[in-house]
Amino acid sequence: MKKPIRSASGISVVTLLTKPYPCPGACIFCPTETKMPKSYLSLEPAAQRSLLLHFNPFLTTLLRLFVLKENGHSVNKAEIIVNGGTWSFYPPQYRTYFIKGIFIGLNLFTPTTFKKLKKLKIQNTNFTKLLTDTPLFYKIFKTTLKNQLRQPLLLLQKQNTTAYSRCVGLSVEERPDTITLKTLREARIYGVTKIQVGIQSMNNKILEANKRGHTRQDNIEASYKLRANGFKINAHFMPNLYKANYKIDLQSYLDFIQQIQPDEIKIYPTVLLKNTYLYKLYLRGKYQQYDQQTLIKLITQFKISTPPWVRINRIFRDIPANYMQGYKIASNIRELIHKHMDMQGLKCQCIRCRQIKHLQEPINKNHIKFNTLTYNSLIGQNFFLQATWRDKLLGFLRLFLPNLRAQTYQLPPIRGHALIREVHVYSKPIYFGYKTPTSVQHIGIGKQLIRMAELIAQKHNFKYISVIAGIGTQKYYAKLHYKLIKLNYMRKLLNATK
Ligand code: SF4
Ligand SMILES: [Zn+2]
Repeated sequence: MKKPIRSASGISVVTLLTKPYPCPGACIFCPTETKMPKSYLSLEPAAQRSLLLHFNPFLTTLLRLFVLKENGHSVNKAEIIVNGGTWSFYPPQYRTYFIKGIFIGLNLFTPTTFKKLKKLKIQNTNFTKLLTDTPLFYKIFKTTLKNQLRQPLLLLQKQNTTAYSRCVGLSVEERPDTITLKTLREARIYGVTKIQVGIQSMNNKILEANKRGHTRQDNIEASYKLRANGFKINAHFMPNLYKANYKIDLQSYLDFIQQIQPDEIKIYPTVLLKNTYLYKLYLRGKYQQYDQQTLIKLITQFKISTPPWVRINRIFRDIPANYMQGYKIASNIRELIHKHMDMQGLKCQCIRCRQIKHLQEPINKNHIKFNTLTYNSLIGQNFFLQATWRDKLLGFLRLFLPNLRAQTYQLPPIRGHALIREVHVYSKPIYFGYKTPTSVQHIGIGKQLIRMAELIAQKHNFKYISVIAGIGTQKYYAKLHYKLIKLNYMRKLLNATK
């Protein structure tokens, strides 16, 4: 049976891992497995898949799309998540090959391909079978793949704008100190729309004690560069690092919310892993883990301090229990935190907790409310435009209006433009059981939000509005009179807005 939650946002997620490669960092908590990229463990689910497929981006994309479709999910909109440590540290040739492989996988996945693969009887979770079948189906596509890899990336991207499975978002991982205008420029050539950045702490003493190799100021600068160029900021935060305590972590989190202003957050409580320096410190009695109650109390505080324009994506990294040393964090920690919050009468107002999941009845268009939340950054103004229905979030848009200071961080094609950093409408798959008229996407919420953003930008005297469009969304914006400009941004002249 179809599990609605995976595509509750109407988007199918494809996660890939890059090949094993060193990282410029020396963080004392970070594990190393020779056959895995730095910080990844071979028994983590997505890691396992990539390992079995020899980190081949083409095969991983194609097979993931196949499995998702076979489970009844729509794969027309794919969000690609590239994990595997510091992306810009990989050689440029490898990065280009990897991104090409993803686009080839997306472009070749058609209903006909699906039928071909189905004939091979690839099973959903049977990895061994999946691997043994791989050479066979690899053979089917081998020649095509070889030819495709010779094509320029730009052409493969162009093909994706009309493909059956389109890339609506692409994220890579970076450290705050590797986020430069050069790496961001390159990221735009690849079509990256979101960066996952390991902030981990805003306290310089903690950052130093854990050998992170960057400072609080580096964190802030990185967030400016990302925001000023329209990237979505998915920031990671780690409580319980070496030398931290409850009070320091809470202060650091509040500072993180205020200064970094992340769009999405992954809270990763420190996990004690063998073969790390932190584990040695633990054995010597120099590092103490928080107990479950402390962790629940602390993350509850994090949740209630998180504004409604942020999505807390995770509060635990899905590390198999047998890897964890010392106290093992419960895999249902999110549930335990929510129970604790219920008992205290507390509510998390983040996007994940507010987004609509299951529709019980058809939506009456007239009952949808549109409103705007605003917050300031040192480099400009942020607008979070949202569409809600009975307190449930149906869709949102992130608009950023840069000030003069921001322009020093901006890439030339979008310098001085108002920026749409994200448009997200929760769509059809969650409404299954209801036909088109109740599907939120057909009410035109996205278009309405974009129109609102254009009016705000115009009111603030911006001549142009640009959007950091995923490669596969270019046709959508073209219909709204946005033109493709350099670095895969799309731009609209606001004076022309009727
Ligand atoms: S930067 Fe990330 S991958 Fe590199 S050592 Fe630190 S935690 Fe590990
Ligand atoms: Zn929440």
